[in-house]
Amino acid sequence: MLAAVMTAPEALAPQELPTPEPGRGEVLVRVGANTLCATDTRILRGEKTAGVELPIVLGHETAGHVAAVGAGVSGFPEGAPVAMSPVIPCLRCPDCRRGLENICPNSRIMGYAHHGGLAEYMLVPARAIEAGCLFVSPTDLPSEQLALAEPLACVVLGQRWSPIALDDTVLVLGAGPIGLLHLQVARANGAGRVIVSEPSPGRREHARRLGAARTVDPTTEDLAEAVAELTGGEGVDAVIIAIGVPALLGDALKLCRKGGRVNVFAGFKGTGLSEVEANLLHYRQIRLTGSANSRRADFQTALSLVANGVVDTGSMVTHRFPLADVTDALAKVGADDAVKVAVLP
Ligand SMILES: [Zn+2]
Ligand SMILES: [Zn+2]
Repeated sequence: MLAAVMTAPEALAPQELPTPEPGRGEVLVRVGANTLCATDTRILRGEKTAGVELPIVLGHETAGHVAAVGAGVSGFPEGAPVAMSPVIPCLRCPDCRRGLENICPNSRIMGYAHHGGLAEYMLVPARAIEAGCLFVSPTDLPSEQLALAEPLACVVLGQRWSPIALDDTVLVLGAGPIGLLHLQVARANGAGRVIVSEPSPGRREHARRLGAARTVDPTTEDLAEAVAELTGGEGVDAVIIAIGVPALLGDALKLCRKGGRVNVFAGFKGTGLSEVEANLLHYRQIRLTGSANSRRADFQTALSLVANGVVDTGSMVTHRFPLADVTDALAKVGADDAVKVAVLP
């Protein structure tokens, strides 16, 4: 089979590997689509090394169909549409026991530590099957739509950890794929208005199509003024930081109303050091949260949101590449005209 193997930073190429055979407890998936995200490009550039074991077949946003199952596996009929939650939690550490399996220190992630979905076939390890990380989709949608259940699951967790309430005015900073998913989930959670701040005109347009009440170009408009105008000077109920710029934390605290919520959803380069006016938290009683990755429960919800058409993942795939052109596909991630880039093996 063809697979995109990363051997060292900046070294990734499609190559022929033997098609794996599922052993006891394992499931072999014929990959229909693997969507790419900024994490893949950060791994490829060598900026993200934690949990990454080289050489590796990259790809953690994967969906396809069951090709074969190993001995002792049930519940995965051949041909069933499947999508995977890539974090395999240990289930026994204190974090897992507290319900924080998404940040389990012993977790192994498919696409970082186990071979991922940038291949014609992907072998899902027995530990992942046992933990319930492979999900059969209730409907056979195009794999590229099911693959997006992965980033969506992270967004679902973010809004569970920092809840959006009925009629909230929400500010989403950044309209990349994650910002656009936050916009959709906030609306599904009952947000009255979602304001999106994003420099790219194409992405602002996409946000408006997906129901943003107002979009702001922070490079030419005053975001604080726009927020004050829309909220009668009070500030928004919730801010979601969906772009990895540490200085945005200080802005978010100022744009949030008293008693409001700020969620640091994005990850940052290095430690993400940022200077904030801590008194804003104190005197304005702001609730500050962070969230990372997702749990199996969030993935289950995300897959259901996609299957039931609550979240539109179909319109988010703007570019498609065959596996042989995986390098071109990775180069397209983050481009102005790209929302989601899919590799279709
Ligand atoms: Zn991702
Ligand atoms: Zn654990």
